[in-house]
Amino acid sequence: TIGYFNGEFISTDDSVIPIDERGHQFGDGVYEVIRTYNGIPFKLEEHLDRLEMSMKAIQLPQSANTEREHLRFIIYQGIEKSQLQNADVYIQITRGIATRQHLFPNVPASVSMTVRSSKFSANNIHDRVMTAMLHEDERWKNCYIKSLNLLPNILAKQTATDAGFGEAILIRDHYISEGTSSNVFIVKEETLYTPPLSHHILAGVTRKTILDLASSLSIPCEETEITPEDVKNADEVFITSTTLEVTPIIKVDDQMISHGQPGKITTKIFNSFLNEAKCTSTF
Ligand code: PMP
Repeated sequence: TIGYFNGEFISTDDSVIPIDERGHQFGDGVYEVIRTYNGIPFKLEEHLDRLEMSMKAIQLPQSANTEREHLRFIIYQGIEKSQLQNADVYIQITRGIATRQHLFPNVPASVSMTVRSSKFSANNIHDRVMTAMLHEDERWKNCYIKSLNLLPNILAKQTATDAGFGEAILIRDHYISEGTSSNVFIVKEETLYTPPLSHHILAGVTRKTILDLASSLSIPCEETEITPEDVKNADEVFITSTTLEVTPIIKVDDQMISHGQPGKITTKIFNSFLNEAKCTSTF
């Protein structure tokens, strides 16, 4: 495991965050998680685009240490130092270190990073299945920003876990938004559905990859509002994220989905996704 904070590679056990660091005190920052395959970061530019968008959205000004070229450089350095083939790169940018007060300080941003072995790497879809619980979406109105403020996500995930489920699927105003750290897809009569992009969900990099894959596999796909009943009545359900990739959901609350097995279309998408991730990374 590799750690990094403001210009230095460190051990993740080192105490390096000053008391007045704004990520630590306010959650005043944004982040990205990037997966590597064969030591190469997958969809790196898409993640850096989203990081830039998140920074703009919270009015975090660019400084020399947050420029794209610099971030790309430290990400590659971190991956190389880790010597890991399949890693999760966590990169966080905050509004810096300044005596605690709410107003923006005029100081450089802080950049921190960890590079760790990826948790989910089973190639067999049957080893990836998960269950999910429906849960109210208690978050704010700007969930398109990948902000550090994850308390409602953490609470929903813990509630789901304590109730014996793997993920919470969130409901806002009678419709599904997303998972606590994933996007949601359902399959009904061979068509794929996922909620449309809005300020209420994160524009998942994996979500976009899946939409592109579905199109190239000629699987019909619609970005449309999905109700909790649609999820329970779906033929197949799966969630997507950088770390979970494509994860079949085989039970939602007490409703079994596709007889408790990964569905046909989910399996097709899972295999194509892994194929793309691994092939892209060999070049
Ligand atoms: N929604 C939320 C709330 C998330 O935290 C994540 C994980 N970053 C996602 C969706 C999936 O996004 P991605 O595919 O870019 O990892």
